[in-house]
Amino acid sequence: MSITLSSEAGVPIEPGLYIVATPIGHLEDITVRAISVLKQVDIIAAEDTRHSARLLQKYQINTPLTPYHDHTNPAQRAKIIDRLQQGQRIALISDAGTPLISDPGFRLVSEVRALGINVIPIPGACAAIAAMCTSGLPSDRFLFEGFLPSKQGARQQALAGRANEIATLVYYESPRRLADTLRDMSVAFGPERQAVIARELTKLHEQIKCGALSDLIAAVDADDNLRRGECVLLVKGCPVRTDPGLSQEAIDIMQTLIAELPLKQAAKLAAQITGEKKNALYAWALSFQSDAK
Ligand code: SAM
Repeated sequence: MSITLSSEAGVPIEPGLYIVATPIGHLEDITVRAISVLKQVDIIAAEDTRHSARLLQKYQINTPLTPYHDHTNPAQRAKIIDRLQQGQRIALISDAGTPLISDPGFRLVSEVRALGINVIPIPGACAAIAAMCTSGLPSDRFLFEGFLPSKQGARQQALAGRANEIATLVYYESPRRLADTLRDMSVAFGPERQAVIARELTKLHEQIKCGALSDLIAAVDADDNLRRGECVLLVKGCPVRTDPGLSQEAIDIMQTLIAELPLKQAAKLAAQITGEKKNALYAWALSFQSDAK
């Protein structure tokens, strides 16, 4: 199949800032449009120009590179903005994946947008999304947390603040801290909480390991390989507790009874003891059991 892009058919791409996703490992994970745009822009602003040169060489992209970081040098941003104001086309890339996602670019994009200049997405690889969609954890709602603080106290505090979050939690983590972070997660979320280590995605040693946090801690302790390469850590959200308006006493009694009796019998007995409605007690027990699975 041959694909002809409007840009290849002689229509020049419009002026503006192109936010171009590049591979997170496998060099073929780049879109046809990304290659076309990178060839046509006036300049490519890159997090690390030497690192990106390998990718550009593979696709015979000869566009000049310029370094860009949000924090190090405001003059770099001013130069890029100046070029954009002159009507140039500029692409922003990072070392891997989607710019701005735990990577430089936010300050540039916000300033460029504020000036009313076009910012055009060229979507593609992102480690968080690649991990999310292969983890087997609920994907209807997820919370991308980026990197946790490296200091243990701050990390534990950040995790404690997410203990009741119902969305799947997605973290970037350095392999050096993986074992400590899993232990801190086990304290914050409980050792039974399901989690996934997605490492070296799209690369030779790709591995997606699922299990309770206690199992993952044991696996990382037993296998040094799990501590190598890049990884995304995902944690299943906190089970939803439907609030049926029952008293805490009724819930405590139900918890004791359902450990010994069929749900209907437990609900009937608890209703007699507490005066609560049998149906509400039964519904609570059903949701409690499905959350625990
Ligand atoms: N902008 C990138 C993206 O779109 O995914 C993320 C850049 S951030 C500086 C780098 C972190 O992303 C790594 O420390 C790791 O947590 C995660 N990461 C990047 N590539 C990965 C890969 N191939 N497999 C697993 N995690 C990866």
